[in-house]
Amino acid sequence: MIRLLDAETVGQIAAGEIVERPLSVVKELVENSLDAGARRISVAVTRGGLETIDVVDDGAGIDPDDLVLAFARHATSKLGAASDLERVATLGFRGEGLASIAAVARVRLSSRTAAAQTAMRVEAFGSAISVPEPVAAPPGTRVAVADLFATVPVRREYLRSPSAEFARISTFLATLALAYPQVTFSLAHDGRPAWTLPASESLAQRLDHVFGPAAARGLIPIDGDDVAPLRGFISRPGFDRGDRRMQLLFVNDRLLRSTLLAGAWTAGYSTFALSGRQPYGVIFLDLPYDEVDPNVHPTKSDVRLRRPERVLERVKRALSATLARDATARLRATVSFAPGGEERAAVAPATNGEGAAGAAFVEALIEAPHAPTVLAQLDATYVLAIDGGALLLVDQHAAHERIAYEAIVERARAGAPSEPLLLPYAVELEPADVARFEAVRETLAEAGFEAEPFGERTYRVLATPAGYAARAFKLQPFLADVGDEIPGLSASERVWATLACHSVARAGERLEHAEMSALVARLMRCRNPMHCPHGRPTMVRIEADAVARMFKRT
Ligand code: ADP
Ligand code: MG
Repeated sequence: MIRLLDAETVGQIAAGEIVERPLSVVKELVENSLDAGARRISVAVTRGGLETIDVVDDGAGIDPDDLVLAFARHATSKLGAASDLERVATLGFRGEGLASIAAVARVRLSSRTAAAQTAMRVEAFGSAISVPEPVAAPPGTRVAVADLFATVPVRREYLRSPSAEFARISTFLATLALAYPQVTFSLAHDGRPAWTLPASESLAQRLDHVFGPAAARGLIPIDGDDVAPLRGFISRPGFDRGDRRMQLLFVNDRLLRSTLLAGAWTAGYSTFALSGRQPYGVIFLDLPYDEVDPNVHPTKSDVRLRRPERVLERVKRALSATLARDATARLRATVSFAPGGEERAAVAPATNGEGAAGAAFVEALIEAPHAPTVLAQLDATYVLAIDGGALLLVDQHAAHERIAYEAIVERARAGAPSEPLLLPYAVELEPADVARFEAVRETLAEAGFEAEPFGERTYRVLATPAGYAARAFKLQPFLADVGDEIPGLSASERVWATLACHSVARAGERLEHAEMSALVARLMRCRNPMHCPHGRPTMVRIEADAVARMFKRT
């Protein structure tokens, strides 16, 4: 028998799409505050929002006559006619936010417009809503939500711990704040202030907060384009990550989870990056409203663009232009170096252990006003660079090995997922190699290299460490080397070091200038930049005064 569902059930089904966890409630409420033109938005949650969520703003407020209507499904002040859907300029537009929250939690909303003498308050829960009554409150809106999912207990089972839910809220809110520098955001948890981001012209504090101060130092502003206003920041070569999580995108101030521009980031950066590494940063795209359709996703975290290829192309061009300009600027900065100026003591670590001397050396390099500038490649094997008052000779293979090794260890320890190959390929091993391979198969998988038996002596390679597929990794030569002892490394580390060795630039390989710049910059940011995992030096440093002695100037 078919019958119509009652209003309560319909409400819960619709709410299910929108309110998935405490973060969803925060997102809907903060979006409403932003749409209301708030300059100050304070969010306070208890137990990660599982207990209460409180959002206070100083925005336009709701007219007393509209208070009850605001909770009706599909009731909104933001769209006039259906045609308005083709040019949505606000974050909300479906009129489902408050209705959905009230369907799954207890909501108390008080609001006051600038013109009103007093604030009015209503309480909504399920399909019930109270008669508005006056309360004392300043202009603006306050929404207090409690007992989230009281009516749908199964939802609660999908939630994580209060601290994990809080972390999601905190990350989301701070990230969103990047697009609204004119708004002061603050967040509190369990009665204690977590952070405040005061309104400010500069995004510096917010970038520090979202990316972390060390990573934020690697960001450079993106050169815009007059046609499609494009703003933002991208990490310069040498600053990168093993994943795409910090490639943030706003379209018309809407934060998207979209992978819409993932290709642009990679393409714009590709000549500058080592394989397997990803730039990070934030892109703000301002497109005409009628070129963006936000009505494609229940939580509005994705949009459809009218001309995606054009946008992608523009972003790509802007990113590569920005990086090229930055590289040129840094080259100039070093060429115009006054001789004898800017010298730094380099404390080279004595061993290949990750000792304190190594850390101090890296600190000195990171604090350095200029990253080393690449001059040329010698004999297709060594990279020559100027680092402050010294000449660097970098062994490209040893350097790349060190970088790849640290990236592999980092991902293995973090349990990062591997990158499945689109087309798994089969390799046939010599009988003697099968046992060798079996002995290291598990350790290789931890580093992202996954293969499964596929016949007696045949394996199917399913995944390789992210990005390393770019350089042909050959299993056989790897197996020939993997048994070799490497002093100071554990069995797993030895496997990873050998994997690194076989995944990277070899001696005798010509490198592009940008590749060399990225290589040297990345090396400097390694925990132990002076030696490859096998203990061979990665670089030799010749100080200017040593050169002076060669010319008998002293
Ligand atoms: P939508 O945001 O899609 O319009 P909501 O259910 O989230 O739908 O909100 C319904 C209406 O309530 C909004 O259109 C707006 O007029 C009003 N409203 C909600 N929150 C606020 C707020 N913080 N300040 C001012 N008005 C608000
Ligand atoms: Mg809304």
